[in-house]
Amino acid sequence: MHSPIAISSFNDNYIWIIETDQGCWVVDPGDAKPVISWLVANQQRIAGILLTHHHADHVGGVEALEAFAQTQQQTLTVWGPDECQRWRTEAAKPGDLLSLPGLGQVSVIDVSAHTLGHIAYFLPEPAWLFCGDSLFSAGCGRLFEGTPLQLFHTLQRINDLPAHTHIFPAHEYTQKNLAFAQHVEPSNESLALAYHEVSSWREQKRPSLPTTLARERLINPFLRLHSPELREQVSHFAEQAFQSEVITLAQLRQWKDQS
Ligand SMILES: [Zn+2]
Repeated sequence: MHSPIAISSFNDNYIWIIETDQGCWVVDPGDAKPVISWLVANQQRIAGILLTHHHADHVGGVEALEAFAQTQQQTLTVWGPDECQRWRTEAAKPGDLLSLPGLGQVSVIDVSAHTLGHIAYFLPEPAWLFCGDSLFSAGCGRLFEGTPLQLFHTLQRINDLPAHTHIFPAHEYTQKNLAFAQHVEPSNESLALAYHEVSSWREQKRPSLPTTLARERLINPFLRLHSPELREQVSHFAEQAFQSEVITLAQLRQWKDQS
């Protein structure tokens, strides 16, 4: 399979398109228009949709894409978690191993915290993770519905994947996230390097994504709760000595929300 294509939508969303020999799979189409334009321009047909969570900027284009597919005499399968019941045609539950046309095996992972039913889709071969708003490059999704403890377990589940996993988040937040990460770990040289690299990509209007798990382990503060410098800086922000990684994670998320 070719590397998935990032379709920009709204201000900073990416809709990922996975081309296969059985049609294209579209991940989190918040808006149908740019997807339809791409399909028409590239003479591709849509095989199905994967939804990660229920926010409008991820599901808003589903109905229009279904209508578009019908004009091509096609019925779409729309996979999604329970919180996407309104839009999905098939249920994807954490722990499921799906077998999807063109994609092969896809495992469904519980990445709740940003929303309570948030799921991610992992293709073990070639090790691709479509994680919606659970993890970003150098950051993670806000806790709209879940708790810091849920986020802690979600991040652990992601961190348990192979290091070479390519990660496809749904937003271009990398540059801002890296600026914040540098406050959290001022002497982490990987951050300075990544900031420089991502700034030049963004100047050229290139996406900073996908990223890899190996890279995130170096630059993502939410995966670096073990770092002594991070612990010290977060303790300073919270005016409280280190107690546990879960508490540090909660404080770090709070710091990021206020920054
Ligand atoms: Zn969201």
